[in-house]
Amino acid sequence: MNLKNLGIKKINFGACDGTWMKNPYGDELVSINPTTAKPIASVKPAGPGDYEQVLTTAQNTFKKWRMMPAPKRGEIVRQIGEELRKFKKELGTLVSLEMGKIIAESEGEVQEMIDICDFAAGLSRQLYGLTMHSERPGHRMYEQWHPLGTIGIITAFNFPVAVWAWNAAIAAVCGNTMVWKPSSETPLCAIAVQNICNRVLERHNLSGVFNLLIGSGDRVGEALIKDKRLPLISATGSCEVGRHITETVSKRFGRVLLELGGNNAAIILNDANLDLAVRAILFGAIGTSGQRCTTIRRLIVQKETTDELIKRLILAYRQVTIGDPINSKTLMGPLVNKKAVNTMFDAIETIKLQGGKIIYGGTYGKTVVDNCGFFVEATIVKAHKMMPIIQEEIFAPILYIIEVSDLEEAVEVNNNVPQGLSSAIFTNNLIAAETFLSHRGSDCGIANVNIGTSGAEIGGAFGGEKETGGGREAGSDSWRAYMRRQTCTINWLNDLPLAQGIKFGE
Ligand code: NAD
Repeated sequence: MNLKNLGIKKINFGACDGTWMKNPYGDELVSINPTTAKPIASVKPAGPGDYEQVLTTAQNTFKKWRMMPAPKRGEIVRQIGEELRKFKKELGTLVSLEMGKIIAESEGEVQEMIDICDFAAGLSRQLYGLTMHSERPGHRMYEQWHPLGTIGIITAFNFPVAVWAWNAAIAAVCGNTMVWKPSSETPLCAIAVQNICNRVLERHNLSGVFNLLIGSGDRVGEALIKDKRLPLISATGSCEVGRHITETVSKRFGRVLLELGGNNAAIILNDANLDLAVRAILFGAIGTSGQRCTTIRRLIVQKETTDELIKRLILAYRQVTIGDPINSKTLMGPLVNKKAVNTMFDAIETIKLQGGKIIYGGTYGKTVVDNCGFFVEATIVKAHKMMPIIQEEIFAPILYIIEVSDLEEAVEVNNNVPQGLSSAIFTNNLIAAETFLSHRGSDCGIANVNIGTSGAEIGGAFGGEKETGGGREAGSDSWRAYMRRQTCTINWLNDLPLAQGIKFGE
């Protein structure tokens, strides 16, 4: 792979706003390849001076950018999508190299960026407001939507490029400028994306619409969430970090758009098509090595089906090749870092203490011995619904199997966790499927029938309820989160009737 095509040509990088910083600040941030546990490159994070420079640029650019008609902004975002098409393979490879997901998923992530750019280009002509009838004669009333200003985007390691694009493409056509703080695990992916944006903006004599600040959550993240100049913080990450972000931003009356942890379940009823279910479970539980916010973590299975399902799942798990994510034959890459491996094995000890039985995996991946990467085995646990650990999101490929008697109990178990991101049911029974989708069913932001919990399309609004944070990103009408609504009433006659028929001083 030629990293130069993505602008990865020097060893050290600083923060940027369209031109790269010359003297960035602080200790170097080393980007580690999780497949080998070796450094790829190091980055100099942004210091307080860089921060101010980037914020000022983003704010000044907003004054210009908001004046550009939305369809013209859409055209620029469309061209970013075109540039991403050219670099899909390179950027995908960099995602695999730095984050560890397999190449098919990494290229899929870049495809999501392309799709959202196309979506945003069309959306730029559809930022509709409503018109309503006034109760007063000679009055016209309507709603319009204005951009918010400069917004902060904080992203997690597991979708190092797509989640930025969900936010940035939509926020940009809405007329906002933005500052992105990526995860410290994946700075190189962010630098590559920034270079792609810079190239497109340069063609239009622009800079400062998309800006990047690399640095830790404690420094750059904290500065962003406390900064009154940022009317919206869109944050993707764990529930714990999200709780802190929402408290901090709410204190200054800023808005948050939260995409936090999930604890997703798939219900398997006795009449489910097990061939289909097993394929969906395999991708849902093992995809991205169990490090998707939408990963299937809990399988809620009707008792009579458990033995057959376990038999088939173990057969399928045995076929999973663990190894170098860039090898197209690999189905499962490493976890992101050593801490993630430790968290998984600590969880396995707790699972055993709480009465869970490991029926597959539970150890390091074989390849850990060969190349020292952060490999683990995908793990299946026979669990019971009262185990406290089931309430937590362990960001690793651990799949709990929980037996239930009927649909009612299955829905109760599905909903009985603090998070509310994604959910699925496998059944051929129409009444069961519709019950699951009804107000008596799943309490999650995403509810699927006969497909897994992960792999959402960008056309729908994406997000979850409860501790997942309530935010919605990507398609549908998610754009409204990046704009402010204004209700306007115009009196086009020479009389001044008051609303509710009030007479005042007449
Ligand atoms: P994390 O919470 O550790 O970090 C997320 C981001 O927050 C990082 O950029 C981090 O630097 C930043 N951060 C940390 N402390 C901060 C602070 N005090 N102020 C501001 N920013 C701060 O999460 P992670 O380990 O990178 O990602 C995994 C988590 O993200 C999982 O819980 C996963 O479910 C969640 N996630 C959710 C979605 C979704 O759409 N719901 C998508 C992807 C990931």
